[in-house]
Amino acid sequence: MILGAPGSGKGTQGKLLAEHLRVPQVSTGELLRAAVKRGTPLGKQAKTYMDQGLLVPDEVILGLIREILDSRDAAGGVLMDGFPRTVPQAAAVDRVLADRKARVDRVLVLEVDEGELVNRLLGRAAKEGRSDDNLESIKQRLQVYHAQTAPLISYYERQGVVRRVPGMGQVEEIQVRMRAAAT
Ligand code: ADP
Repeated sequence: MILGAPGSGKGTQGKLLAEHLRVPQVSTGELLRAAVKRGTPLGKQAKTYMDQGLLVPDEVILGLIREILDSRDAAGGVLMDGFPRTVPQAAAVDRVLADRKARVDRVLVLEVDEGELVNRLLGRAAKEGRSDDNLESIKQRLQVYHAQTAPLISYYERQGVVRRVPGMGQVEEIQVRMRAAAT
């Protein structure tokens, strides 16, 4: 699992690490954006929250998490990128995994300075035009991260699986640290 603030590089690093580990990378953010694009009921429910920089409610996400972890592709393990994001989501992940006699092996926390996070997200806004990459939503997402997602670090520290990885520098050098921390 990769934990980190918006803009910390979870998607970029997760893709490289998943290839290295030969497991699928699953991102609830990507799945939600695809649902929004297709205009499915899930996408319709999620869009207003996402555009405001708020988390999609747990009752919407819990089903999605179960679906991901119960899928056949997940049987050999997955790299979770961008979820769980709240303590109830983490508890749900633990429950589903425990039912399959599995567990969270490792949590990599990508650490990046706040100023750098904002710069990266504004840069991505200019390049990719994601509708939640505007200054107001970025500030909201950082606040939501500190309030609702950062507490997961101590949740997983109690399980002894957390490794902190400095997320500043070149993509390749960060990846070297990620691989070392993942084993
Ligand atoms: P970022 O890490 O840059 O915020 P993501 O793609 O992980 O990008 O998430 C984008 C948005 O999707 C979030 O701001 C939130 O609204 C929604 N989202 C993604 N994953 C979850 C989740 N597990 N629980 C609730 N909301 C989520």
